[in-house]
Amino acid sequence: MDDDFDSGAYLKVSEIPIYLSCPRKLYFHYHGKGVEPVSEQLLNNIFYKELSYNIHEIEEIWDKGWIEDLFDEIEMIYRDIIEKIKPEIFEAFKGDVIADCDEICEIAGRIHSFYAREGLEIAETGRFLRSKRFLLSGSLDKVMRADSASPVPVIVRGGRMPDNGVWKSDRMRIMAYTILLEEEFGGGIYRGFVEYISEGEVREVTIRDYDRRRVLKLLRMMRRIKNGAIPERLDSEACEVCSLRDACVIERSLLSRFF
Ligand code: SF4
Repeated sequence: MDDDFDSGAYLKVSEIPIYLSCPRKLYFHYHGKGVEPVSEQLLNNIFYKELSYNIHEIEEIWDKGWIEDLFDEIEMIYRDIIEKIKPEIFEAFKGDVIADCDEICEIAGRIHSFYAREGLEIAETGRFLRSKRFLLSGSLDKVMRADSASPVPVIVRGGRMPDNGVWKSDRMRIMAYTILLEEEFGGGIYRGFVEYISEGEVREVTIRDYDRRRVLKLLRMMRRIKNGAIPERLDSEACEVCSLRDACVIERSLLSRFF
């Protein structure tokens, strides 16, 4: 990485879902009051990401032993994170996964078969990308390729998938990673994928000019918040269950209007 890389000046692709859930949450995130995922959610994300990475490396020997080995690797790779999680929570999560081992191995097989049918092979996992032009950075879950064709961005999601297509925040993240990949490898990227791994399904995202414009506009809005603009409160049902609710109730007269 270049010595002149100033990470604090860059927007992160991972901040896009925060902005889309509530612009004001992003403001708090930039001011050190982010919403931390609960331990189970964190473990779920880590497990499914590692499962996805390993599907490509070990073919068709997915069994209980493979899942147990995966947990050994997770404990080593994510040592700093795992150490902060109560051991009983980690062991309970591991026990639940191992109990569902047959279903998880079947899911792994479905994902593997999908990429084989598409003729896509993994080129890299967790590739860090950044653009000086857009002051944007992010670590892409997978870069895949079919023969010598353009790279294909893939993001891995451990949560549920929508009835059709992909969630808006996933589409926008694919667009942002496409911009970053094209900065590095040139144009010609016309599709990406969202791997809803816990449901064993991969969904395609067509790269459209319309969505490129939308993500660039979204990044401009995020930049304004990073520069200090304070968005209005949502005043919606989401506020009722938001962990930032107390911090969010600030005298409105003190706030600069965002919209
Ligand atoms: S309380 Fe409402 S407006 Fe404030 S951060 Fe939470 S969701 Fe956003």
